Amino acid sequence: MRILLVEDEPGIANFIRQGLSEAGYAVDIARDGCEGLDYALAVEYDVLVLDIMLPKLDGLALLRELRRHGDHTLTIILTARDGVGDRVEGLDTGADDYLVKPFAFSELLARVRALLRRPPLQMGTILQVGDLAMDTVKREVKRNGSLVELSPREYAVLEYLMRHPDQVLTRTQIGEHVWNLDFYNESNVVDVYVGYLRRKLARHGDLPLIQTVRGVGYRIRTEAAE
Ligand code: CA
Repeated sequence: MRILLVEDEPGIANFIRQGLSEAGYAVDIARDGCEGLDYALAVEYDVLVLDIMLPKLDGLALLRELRRHGDHTLTIILTARDGVGDRVEGLDTGADDYLVKPFAFSELLARVRALLRRPPLQMGTILQVGDLAMDTVKREVKRNGSLVELSPREYAVLEYLMRHPDQVLTRTQIGEHVWNLDFYNESNVVDVYVGYLRRKLARHGDLPLIQTVRGVGYRIRTEAAE
């Protein structure tokens, strides 16, 4: 899952990025509102974490502009303690949630997870595809009841596939949702990670779950292919 963080204070931005990266998210940072709007319109993010007080274009103006373009990316706004007006205006503008600064990082993580549970994404904290179950709170994957040990990147690729069951996802889509801007489409990094995943999943069940769609990308099947 890929997150855009729009925050001009470097200390806060780096702290949040580090925490989200450790939790397995791909994170890009924009340092002002104009840059944030450019990134948000150019890349399909899963969640936007948006500070309100920003240089060039404030967070509310950014959000308004984004929604005007028909972009409904799930958005959490970060507001000051006394910014009741900002919170009300933010929610009215189409923010999905807010956090008051300073906040505990664990709360931001919980809110990101809560947003990702909303429709049209799968509901609930457990994603289930065939004999495969992913607990998105514990970050645990089990196949036929036995634990599958995954690296954070492998987990992230699998989570993206499992949130879009039976949908064909291109290498670019997978790459863009799992890696940050340092990801280049030329590389075969997606194929490499799908290979790792298949090997690990095969240890706990026979039927292949991740299907190659030749010339396009990959698809996880709710009913395993023959
Ligand atoms: Ca700020």
